[in-house]
Amino acid sequence: MGKMGVDAYIEYLEEAHCLIYENRDYVTRLDAETGDGDHWANMNMGFEKLLAKKESLVSMELPELFRECGMTMMSGVGGSAGVLYGSAYLALAKAFAGREFIDDAGIALYLNAQAEAIMKRGKVKPGNKTMLDPLYEAKLAVDRAMEQGFHGASLLSALRDGADKGMRATADMPACKGRACYRPDKGVGHLDPGAVTMEYQLRTFADKLLEEESE
Ligand code: ADP
Ligand code: MG
Repeated sequence: MGKMGVDAYIEYLEEAHCLIYENRDYVTRLDAETGDGDHWANMNMGFEKLLAKKESLVSMELPELFRECGMTMMSGVGGSAGVLYGSAYLALAKAFAGREFIDDAGIALYLNAQAEAIMKRGKVKPGNKTMLDPLYEAKLAVDRAMEQGFHGASLLSALRDGADKGMRATADMPACKGRACYRPDKGVGHLDPGAVTMEYQLRTFADKLLEEESE
């Protein structure tokens, strides 16, 4: 199993930022349909601010890096997404105290710590049509795969598939949180933009771990 340390995590952040960056029009349109249209700009700004500090990030330990991600997202990004990713990253900093790598067992920890933080901070549950849905489905898929003794590439493909399933499922959900819940249709028929950018990050994360594994 590949292990992801600080250098690989920073590469992951760069790749996730690329995928978000390339999908500017799509994500902005999704948030314009059900929210206020700023979600792409919020996420893009968060990654830009974070990656502008790359030189100092490379010298950090993994928990310190997560903490820096959290502080940057929390203070530098507008909208709900900044606060929620901020909380998720601060929870990761605690969960990974004393750890240098994300390995097989760390994947479950990585997903679980973020999901718990977002649920608590956002007062949100799975099925509420938010960024939590792909994260939570990815977590369930990884937990199930681990129970079945899967590891390495099979575990990562479970993560990817879970995230994709959770993201797609938001189209049929009525929103209970965030701006979409103030709409008469509760956003039904539209994908949640936060779920889409969360899926981008989870997909890139799984791909990066797979790459580390084959090295
Ligand atoms: P804002 O809604 O403040 O304009 P963004 O546009 O950046 O912030 O983010 C919107 C996304 O944030 C939504 O698509 C949804 O996924 C997520 N979101 C909003 N409120 C919550 C919440 N209470 N809990 C979890 N996620 C939320
Ligand atoms: Mg918005």
